[in-house]
Amino acid sequence: MISRRDALKTASVATAALAAGAPQLLAADSPEPFKLPPLPYAFDALEPHFDARTMEIHHDRHHAAYVANLNKAVAGRPDLAKMSAEDLIQRLDQLPEAVRTAVRNNGGGHVNHTLFWFQLKKNEGGRPVGAVAGAVTKKFGGFDAFKEAFSKAAMGVFGSGWAWLSTDPQGELMIEALPNQDCPVMTGHRPLLGLDVWEHAYYLKHLNKRADFVAAFWNVIDWEAVDGRYKAARG
Ligand code: MN
Repeated sequence: MISRRDALKTASVATAALAAGAPQLLAADSPEPFKLPPLPYAFDALEPHFDARTMEIHHDRHHAAYVANLNKAVAGRPDLAKMSAEDLIQRLDQLPEAVRTAVRNNGGGHVNHTLFWFQLKKNEGGRPVGAVAGAVTKKFGGFDAFKEAFSKAAMGVFGSGWAWLSTDPQGELMIEALPNQDCPVMTGHRPLLGLDVWEHAYYLKHLNKRADFVAAFWNVIDWEAVDGRYKAARG
């Protein structure tokens, strides 16, 4: 367990590192009280691929709960509350043990869902664009091979979790499957594209058929947003 003094030192080190380092991933990320960013489109904007009722419950209830519980976790801890959610989950091992799990789950939930909403747009089978398009082809041998590998990772998540297209610390593309609300930034990776495969993301429409939801996902990816994240991650 770290002392308050160490925690304050950590926070100021973190602030200095951020000032010099990569830009924040999330335009919507702000310190406590953390806020639920409004969905940047209507609930039914992704129909028929992602249904309006699931979008509404997923955003207004599930994501809202992560935000509320993150605020509870940092309440009364001004040294933590002044950090962004992204900063907090990148420094889990430096946080007081008493809040670490709550920040991991709810800070992760807040960051992951914010990344999720801001990478969705109806594309009707569109393909990657920009620099990330070439990188996907180079790394995976083509978009179809990437789709297959990413879908396999999403199907392979046991229980609740996410599949991610990320960059590793060298800036190379990678696919990773992470449990619960773990986020690629927790291990120094940069998330470009995430698929939430918790049952709450698909059960209303697809019941237990995760494969149908994974197939639908390819019709609602905002590849320009993914390319923007790729460029930011590569600095
Ligand atoms: Mn979710």
